Amino acid sequence: MTYINSNKPVLSILGSTGSIGRQTLEVAEKLGTKIDFMCAGSNDVLFEAQVRRFRPRAVAMSDERAASRLKTALADMDVVVMGGADAVMYGAGDARADITVVAISGMAAAKPMMAAASACRRIAMANKEAVVAAGNLLLSEISARGAEVIPVDSEHSAIFQCIGAGQRSDLRRVILTASGGPFFGRSAAELKSVTLEEALSHPTWSMGAKITVDSATLINKGFEVIEAMCLFGLSADQIDVVIHRESIIHSMVEFTDGTVIAQLGLPDMRTAIQYALTHPARTTGLSGRLDFTTLGSLTFAKPDMTTFPLLSAAFDAARQGGTYPAVLSAADEIAVNAFLLGKIGFSDIARYISDALSNLGQEGNPTLAEILEADAEARAYVRKRIDRGDLN
Ligand code: NDP
Ligand code: MG
Repeated sequence: MTYINSNKPVLSILGSTGSIGRQTLEVAEKLGTKIDFMCAGSNDVLFEAQVRRFRPRAVAMSDERAASRLKTALADMDVVVMGGADAVMYGAGDARADITVVAISGMAAAKPMMAAASACRRIAMANKEAVVAAGNLLLSEISARGAEVIPVDSEHSAIFQCIGAGQRSDLRRVILTASGGPFFGRSAAELKSVTLEEALSHPTWSMGAKITVDSATLINKGFEVIEAMCLFGLSADQIDVVIHRESIIHSMVEFTDGTVIAQLGLPDMRTAIQYALTHPARTTGLSGRLDFTTLGSLTFAKPDMTTFPLLSAAFDAARQGGTYPAVLSAADEIAVNAFLLGKIGFSDIARYISDALSNLGQEGNPTLAEILEADAEARAYVRKRIDRGDLN
């Protein structure tokens, strides 16, 4: 067990301008932790304000033009400003930090995350897509470099905390809870006409746009099945998904004697972020506290995998292994982006992903290079299909 610098670890935050990144800064401010390095993509306006407030030693933006604007804007400050994807990777690997929070979205997180693994003792892992596509490779490489991984995704943080209640050899199954998203209970016909605005109104969690749409299609839960397999060394058959509308139980673990251990709390990502920073210690958090007397009832239901086919597509991709999870994640990123831009409808997201999965993907044990190749191929394939309107 790693004890990190009491409750004041030095942080490196990859993706500080995003939903998780901003909440990480709130937690860092509350804990009074120092930040050595931060990076972002293209939002230089918000990034400049963050740099002025948190005063890191060095920063990087993957978008070169945004980085150059930032450099001019920060001329009065003593901070190293770098630009470009390589600079993000270099900065992540050069950080003088105890913990790196990986909150860059998409596969773009893979290389900076690997670079960070040699620079810090702990990776607080929020990113999902890189873990889905190449989790086994990335995680074994990270532990070979001597860093530990603590999950930030609320379900995996819950499982991580519950697993500690028993012996690993006595674990029977993991029960991932899912809110069901904004379209729980709708029919496939009703889903055809839902709007972007509806897809972006998550009933319980406040998150970035892409993951909110992923929650509405239930592919997010499918990604979490694959993440759980990688993070905890499980087979797909050891993971069940249950719809739990209230998002109070963040996930559960069942042991061989039938005992189920659950982790509960208000739906607030700052709690999981903070735990990944302070583990094994716990300190006063930013979230409110549960009041069981006013909570009412907690409900559970079976997920509807026919109306929401992407959950079963993810289970299939998980069982097939190889490059299938990479194809699933890459196809989703392109299809969701097209949906966010109004180019395709909500139900089309699943159609484009299923099409990609039936035409691309290979079983076996791919290298990282092969996974990145499959990722690029799937993106190009789905982009082309969408531009041609092939499936419409
Ligand atoms: P957002 O889209 O809100 O933020 C993404 C962040 O990554 C931004 O800071 C963005 O910068 C930055 N970024 C994008 N590309 C690059 C790049 N090439 N180099 C450096 N920075 C880059 O995403 P979320 O915060 O919602 O999610 C982040 C990750 O965490 C995702 O993988 C998501 O699945 C996972 N996650 C999120 C949860 C949530 O509650 N939001 C819950 C569980 C997991 P900029 O804005 O400047 O372009
Ligand atoms: Mg989650």
